[in-house]
Amino acid sequence: MPNGAGEPISGGSGPTVGVLALQGAFEVHQQRLHRLGVRAPLIRTPRELDAVDALVLPGGESTTMSRLLGTSGLFDVLAARLADGMPVFGTCAGMILCATEVLDARPDQRGFELIDITVRRNGYGRQLDSFEADLDVQGLATPFHAVFIRAPLVERLGTGVEVLACHDGVPVLVRAGSCTVAAFHPELTDDVRLHELFVEHLSSTD
Ligand code: GLN
Repeated sequence: MPNGAGEPISGGSGPTVGVLALQGAFEVHQQRLHRLGVRAPLIRTPRELDAVDALVLPGGESTTMSRLLGTSGLFDVLAARLADGMPVFGTCAGMILCATEVLDARPDQRGFELIDITVRRNGYGRQLDSFEADLDVQGLATPFHAVFIRAPLVERLGTGVEVLACHDGVPVLVRAGSCTVAAFHPELTDDVRLHELFVEHLSSTD
């Protein structure tokens, strides 16, 4: 059970879902997970990563995150955990970090190549730097209000990638195995249903 707006009471039997906290919109993800009664420590070091069963990669700036993943010593440890099947929810910049192919990437930017999609950074163009849309999401009874901020555009889906939501015919929420990625910021509305779906999916991929 959540402990008000603060941390959930520890000692429960549910999963611990870390939130990568090197840069970007990590705090609100933590609050959303706490609202669901999920332990959600902020992760900044390899040691902190040891304690988690799953991870949220937040929105922010993928080039900066990539650099900080290197300097913090997290990149290789995290890559190994992810290759080992640790579930991950990547949102916006987090989606970029999970994709097998990134167009308009900075040459030195690195990612985890976890889900076979091609994304174009800032692919919605300048006019649409930021927009909001109601999405029909597989598994949700009513639409989810999604906030897109300099979002990546999904330009190719590999085989076996499941589409959970589209916007104007373009996939914006997709999943393959234990990797779920959203082009938008699911933490920026009060609606915790996507975090809930992710947490529920954890037990089905155990
Ligand atoms: N455009 C950013 C990037 O390239 C992502 C934007 C976001 O996460 N809101 O990383």
